[in-house]
Amino acid sequence: MAFPTSSDYVIIGAGIHGLSTAYHLALELKASGKGSGEDIIVLDKGGIASGASGIACGVVRNNYYQPAMRELMAHSVNVWDSDPEAFSYHPVGYMQISCESMHADVGEIYQQQQAIGYESVFIEGENDSRNYMLSIYDDWQAENITSVLHEKKGGYANNTKSIYGLAGKAEAEGVRIVTGVEVTGFMRDSTSSAIKAVETSKGTIKCDYVVIGTGPWVRDFWNMLELPKTVSIKGTDGTLHHNIGMWTFWQLEEGVLKVDPEMFKTNDGKQPPVMHVDTDAALKSVVDGSVIEEEGNIWGLYYKPDFHFGGVQGGAMPYPVTTPVDELQLDPYGPASPEWISSPEFAHMWVSALAHCHKRFEGSMSKFDKEPSGGVGCFTPDSFPVFDEFAENCYIIADSNHGYKMIGVGQLVAQHITGQTSELLKPFRFSRYAEGELHPTSNSPFPWS
Ligand SMILES: Cc1cc2nc3c(=O)[nH]c(=O)nc-3n(C[C@H](O)[C@H](O)[C@H](O)COP(=O)(O)OP(=O)(O)OC[C@H]3O[C@@H](n4cnc5c(N)ncnc54)[C@H](O)[C@@H]3O)c2cc1C
Repeated sequence: MAFPTSSDYVIIGAGIHGLSTAYHLALELKASGKGSGEDIIVLDKGGIASGASGIACGVVRNNYYQPAMRELMAHSVNVWDSDPEAFSYHPVGYMQISCESMHADVGEIYQQQQAIGYESVFIEGENDSRNYMLSIYDDWQAENITSVLHEKKGGYANNTKSIYGLAGKAEAEGVRIVTGVEVTGFMRDSTSSAIKAVETSKGTIKCDYVVIGTGPWVRDFWNMLELPKTVSIKGTDGTLHHNIGMWTFWQLEEGVLKVDPEMFKTNDGKQPPVMHVDTDAALKSVVDGSVIEEEGNIWGLYYKPDFHFGGVQGGAMPYPVTTPVDELQLDPYGPASPEWISSPEFAHMWVSALAHCHKRFEGSMSKFDKEPSGGVGCFTPDSFPVFDEFAENCYIIADSNHGYKMIGVGQLVAQHITGQTSELLKPFRFSRYAEGELHPTSNSPFPWS
């Protein structure tokens, strides 16, 4: 097929957001009689799922301290639930298991989940938490746990499979996905700031509307559009804090314990919920008993059995990257990069943390998969997404690395493009920084909770 020279809608990035927007926009155009999927082109410089969506752990949860994030996530979980087979989605639920410093925050999350009808149970107190966990896993042994939030919805999806599922649904609606094409710039209208064409490595494509869903590469598109490299943020005291960098990269450390995924089931032989544990108990090495974290320091991990990864897969707290933002090399991305992969220290900590939680993982250090894993994510100034329209006809989906689970954002963006305002997206507008309309922060050790 000849390379396109024009398309009403050009979507950049064939990850979760680009493809979800393409699919839902096709449905919206068809339903409104304004067009169809044939009016949409998705461009990707690599292939389908070649960015962060293709290496994501795949966790889908509601557990967020910020009300706007919870409401958005409840919407996305409904989209995952709409076609679990195509999205390779496993609705096994999710558990947030916490120490006392997080008890009150998680209690609030539970209360608000009840208010929005998101099914969950909340267990409080050290004895009741231990007994609840033992009723699910008879080898449970984590210490200093004083609350358990058990979300009955959510779970996880298999990263590349779900993205290919989404691509198939978009293509079935007539969307054209063109891979191996790098977007290099934009041609702007002479009388306004609007984009009139997208410049690529294979030629120029005229268009009416552009959507940018380029995950960590959002930095490059922000620069191409000449958007500000720093922002001013109004604090809770009403004063403006200037020169805050727009983007920060964090390294996500993940890995796989190469065991039979069947060895990690619940007492009644079922697939377990996705597990997330944050505690301030002393963490001892599974190798030599040395202290990795002193009692009182908060640390956390997440994990799940995953047949797609071939073992028990998960991660721990990410760390901020110190390389200056514009100098950070993103390509090759993820495990293909020699620079941005999980460290041996992570492996030691994560396997020790697994053994801290379950007796069955004691002595399993040698089973940690030596294959590289992990990757970097691009975070906003407050570590929450920016979903907004820029340059009159360009929607940027900058999810601040929260976003594999946010499959529903593409639906809301498609509705925005076709003229329907979304209250769910409003709290994520760019102007919130200057207006001081910030999201509350939690006591979690993770930047995305
Ligand atoms: C190790 C890791 C684990 C994660 N685990 C989870 C998780 O469990 N749950 C969760 O919700 N989130 C998770 N995330 C975050 C999540 O993966 C991302 O937020 C999300 O996938 C971003 O999706 P996207 O569609 O915006 O971008 P991506 O999936 O990164 O897709 C962007 C695409 O844009 C293309 N592109 C870039 N530049 C150009 C260009 N110039 N021209 C053309 N194409 C271009 C790339 O090739 C890429 O395919 C994880 C992230 C990492 C790194």
